[in-house]
Amino acid sequence: MAHDPESMAKVSLRWAFAAGTVILLLAIAVTAWFGVYQSSQLRTIDEEQAFYKDLVQCRVALASLDERLTRPDLTPADSSDIEARLVLERARFSESGRREAIRKGGQVESWLAEGKSGRAKVSRESIGLMLIELDTMILGSTRKIADSSSSIVSALHLFMVFIGTLLLTIMFATGRLLLSNYRHLLVPLNQLALRLTQLNRNIPESVHETAEATSTILSDPDPSPELRYVTESVAGLCREIEEKNKKLDELYIRDEKTCLYNYRHFKEHLIIDVERAKRFGDFISLAMVDIDHFKQYNDAYGHIAGDKVLERMAAIIREQCRVTDIPSRFGGEEFAILFPKTDRYMSFEIAERLRQIIEAEPFDHEHRQPEGQLTVSIGLATWPDDAADWYSLINNADHALYQAKEQGRNRVIAFIREEEDAQEK
Ligand code: GH3
Ligand code: MG
Ligand code: MG
Repeated sequence: MAHDPESMAKVSLRWAFAAGTVILLLAIAVTAWFGVYQSSQLRTIDEEQAFYKDLVQCRVALASLDERLTRPDLTPADSSDIEARLVLERARFSESGRREAIRKGGQVESWLAEGKSGRAKVSRESIGLMLIELDTMILGSTRKIADSSSSIVSALHLFMVFIGTLLLTIMFATGRLLLSNYRHLLVPLNQLALRLTQLNRNIPESVHETAEATSTILSDPDPSPELRYVTESVAGLCREIEEKNKKLDELYIRDEKTCLYNYRHFKEHLIIDVERAKRFGDFISLAMVDIDHFKQYNDAYGHIAGDKVLERMAAIIREQCRVTDIPSRFGGEEFAILFPKTDRYMSFEIAERLRQIIEAEPFDHEHRQPEGQLTVSIGLATWPDDAADWYSLINNADHALYQAKEQGRNRVIAFIREEEDAQEK
């Protein structure tokens, strides 16, 4: 799967935006429903309370008229006053009397209808029946007010549960997001930043450690796309630095023309090997190899042809050396070979074999050389027999080389101390 961090980030953002919009719309819809429902219930309660008040007032008025009708000393003037009061009461109640709660065909309905037809005569029995009906209506109205109030309370509970659930969901989602960011982004990013800080202090070692740290981060099955992208970039950078470091190391220790070790590396090795040999009582032998009459070859066939000879001789030297040996270019057409843990006799054998192989090697134009072939002279010295330190080892091997040249070239000469020389004579 391709990891394009930009498009992945866009997809995540789109998802977050869509989820946020859905939650917001849901919250708005539920709040609006709650508002509308609550106000409709409050209106019902208001209306019902007004109706209740009318019912109670009407009932009180009718009850007092009924009580006056029962009096034994009722005069015709009283009766007509009651009639008039009834007409007034009916007129006042007629607005509320249109409510559905008024029972069809009931006593109250017919009392109200009498008003329209102009008749207002009411008996005690009919007032009694009206009082019973009004009582029922008062009870019904009270129940309706109580029902509406409890509906408002239930809706409020539901609304609060919804808001609570919404808040919990948002908190949970935010918590998960923060935790996921912490685990998959902040922690590895912190590790990476720490590695990068160390990288500035000790580049070669920490490049390797940083490369390992990046592979640990990438082995996590679920790093964020942005982090994977940054980590992969750092891993690539580390790989590149490591490869370049290796090349630099090689350049630092190799001679460009012959690919043998250079003088710097040879000298470092010689000093360390001599110290080690001193400590463990080992031998070290050094061979100085110089091409015979090479100036003549160069002068006759040019430096390019001379370089080819140098390269070929370097290849032969490399082939004849063991992995522990240090074959190097000492300078010009001179080579130095360091043989650790090798005594004078063994180094002589190796040097003599090398000389013979070079003598037998067919080089271009070599028949024009003074001896009819390209050859080398080799001077040998061994530590601790021939030298007390590393630079006397070089000087004495060089001295032996000079003797090999003196004695006619194309030969191997091992260094002999002057006292030994004198004794031999
Ligand atoms: P000898 O047998 O006494 O060593 O004679 P020689 O001519 O080899 O001695 P000398 O030291 O006088 O000459 C060394 C020559 O090696 C001189 C130079 O032209 C040649 N030379 C040194 N370095 C290089 C190189 O890198 N390439 C080439 N082609 N020639 C080189
Ligand atoms: Mg030379
Ligand atoms: Mg030479």
